[in-house]
Amino acid sequence: MAADILVTGSCNMDLITYAPRLPLPGETIHGTRYVTGFGGKGSNQCVAAAKLGAKASMIAKVGNDAYGKEYIENFKALGIDTGHVTMTEDACTGVAPIVVGADGTNSIIIVPGANLHLTESDIDAASSLFQSAKVMLCQLEISPESTLCALRKAKGAGVFTIFNPAPAPQKELDPDFYKNSDIVCPNETEASTITGLEVTDVESAKVAVPHLLKMGCGIAIITLGKDGCVFASKEREEPCWVKGEKVNAVDTTGAGDAFAGALAFFFAKFPHLPLEEKLRRSCYVASDSVCREGTQKSYPYRRDLPEEIF
Ligand code: ADP
Repeated sequence: MAADILVTGSCNMDLITYAPRLPLPGETIHGTRYVTGFGGKGSNQCVAAAKLGAKASMIAKVGNDAYGKEYIENFKALGIDTGHVTMTEDACTGVAPIVVGADGTNSIIIVPGANLHLTESDIDAASSLFQSAKVMLCQLEISPESTLCALRKAKGAGVFTIFNPAPAPQKELDPDFYKNSDIVCPNETEASTITGLEVTDVESAKVAVPHLLKMGCGIAIITLGKDGCVFASKEREEPCWVKGEKVNAVDTTGAGDAFAGALAFFFAKFPHLPLEEKLRRSCYVASDSVCREGTQKSYPYRRDLPEEIF
């Protein structure tokens, strides 16, 4: 059956140790708790969309190891098509060892591993998905060449493309990234890196959004944490603010991924809703996710949300 949403991106296993404080160089200390969690921006976004009820397919690479197998099982349990989630013998599944101190400070090391082994030929092998999907979503946690290949392929097949340029690009991206994106949606930090402007609030986002549009995308959205997002489009160049929902935030990890996954969901399932309303609903879903701990497990299922959202 044709997918609503196709995500080309990363899978990381988060390995989270809680400790009284972060260890100093050369020091060994005892932790108090250890948990693992499915993470990686690509899979987070895919899971967010699937939990809302989208038929989702993932294109990704994991290692032929215990985490890789667990990862694929987790996708299957959520009803996500894993026909193009392949394993490599040449690298481990992507991992993110994280230490969290009692005061909430953290240190994170991301080892991309298998994510960087997802190649253009893997993407070519998934051609049938690009022929049938409604929306393709990608980020920057796999190689930039593979991300650009996916964007070009989707655009060429007439699939609506959403590019979340996260984490912030280390060097200037090929202009084709933006030209092949119907939507570009960075957060404040990523928008600052891309535009060279300081984006810290609604007013500065309103200044930056036209710069993103000029780069060639159809719609530019900057997410602003509790303040929601600012957007502009080729049809409506005047930047507009969508206010965030007031909630009691507990853990904002992965909020941007919840937003991107929800945005893909509303474009695929409710294409005729006005853009501003799609964004308001995406903010609602993302703000709901920050009320619970964790990343993928904090994302709401359709049944958890008010019917008016759908
Ligand atoms: P990222 O996780 O990429 O840094 P943001 O922090 O901009 O992304 O958050 C993405 C979206 O999540 C926001 O547009 C907003 O809708 C929601 N969100 C994030 N933090 C909060 C919060 N503290 N209260 C309410 N909504 C939030």
